[in-house]
Amino acid sequence: MRLILFGPPGAGKGTQAKLLEEKIGVRQLSTGDMFRNAIKNQTPLGVKVKAIMDAGKLVGDDVVVEMVAETISKPEYAKGYILDGFPRTVAQAEALDSMLSKRGEKIDAFVALEVPDEQLIARLVNRGQGREDDTPDKIKVRLDVYKKETAPVLAYYEGKGQARLVNGLGTIEAIQQRILDAVV
Ligand code: ADP
Repeated sequence: MRLILFGPPGAGKGTQAKLLEEKIGVRQLSTGDMFRNAIKNQTPLGVKVKAIMDAGKLVGDDVVVEMVAETISKPEYAKGYILDGFPRTVAQAEALDSMLSKRGEKIDAFVALEVPDEQLIARLVNRGQGREDDTPDKIKVRLDVYKKETAPVLAYYEGKGQARLVNGLGTIEAIQQRILDAVV
């Protein structure tokens, strides 16, 4: 199963993706986690993306697409994956389509978690992971970037008839069940 978990920052994509790994037996692929690891390990990629991420802006499409293409071609992703944080622009969605069609593959489901802005801001402020981009001014930038650059990705999958909207408010378990109901 190749699943895209979509939603604004703070929607709970990462939390739900980790739980889904066990339920559906495929791995989570979080571009945000991959970049944070690269920064922690001070790899050339990490050095390149640190300032962009800290500012709450998007890493360039080419960089992200190359990283995802490399990752999904590994054997441990052959059975599928849960994409979390990708695609985040329409250009990334188009690049994903073309990399999949070259491999004779396709996305099985696109799930969009819906959470009102006030709740997103409250969750991000409270997250307390000490993330450089979880300060009020960076959160505002990330929500603005989401609206301008990422929200059109939902319309892209709606146009393909693949988007399923899931209410992202409630307990973690309740939301998990709604996602499972949406993907089967
Ligand atoms: P959140 O969903 O809370 O914003 P993520 O971990 O998904 O957290 O992303 C954190 C940051 O990583 C983004 O603000 C951006 O700088 C970078 N990033 C992650 N995924 C992508 C992507 N697909 N395209 C561009 N930048 C990305």
